[in-house]
Amino acid sequence: MADVMTTEQRSRCMAAIKGKDTNPELIVRKYLFSRGLRFRVQVRKLLGNPDIVLPKYKTVIFVNGCFWHGHEDCRYFRLPKSNVEFWKEKIERNVARDVRNEAELKALGWRIIRVWECEIKTVAQREEYLKHLYDRIVNPTQSYLMETDIDKPSIAAEPESEQSYGNNNHS
Ligand SMILES: [Zn+2]
Repeated sequence: MADVMTTEQRSRCMAAIKGKDTNPELIVRKYLFSRGLRFRVQVRKLLGNPDIVLPKYKTVIFVNGCFWHGHEDCRYFRLPKSNVEFWKEKIERNVARDVRNEAELKALGWRIIRVWECEIKTVAQREEYLKHLYDRIVNPTQSYLMETDIDKPSIAAEPESEQSYGNNNHS
């Protein structure tokens, strides 16, 4: 068969391939998996539907898009020029919900790590960042822990067994 793809099909195909590689959540999952960590994904039984759940380390990871989760002082977070009020309110609601969810998860004994899309945007920064992330997960008592990770879980909360490696519909 000759090359039958139209230009449009080809570009859609390339976009799909590219999208796969640049999906921040997949990048994190792939890396942690390659380092031997096993986890659950998109756990609906936990508040906020965490992207990655590592029961062994009592850790949940949220991989956040900078726009939807209103990453402060981030160059990738820019409100659209039209409907500013609408977007502003929407993002503020998302941020408030994230804060609430995190507080409740912490109260249940989970350690929360937030990964921002911009932190793994380029291949150059990605490698170092992911190594560091792995260390943060497996050595929770090390002094290089930052912000939210300092609170160590006091109560062990085991999520219900759920083997869903299905893909996401993350907003
Ligand atoms: Zn960001």
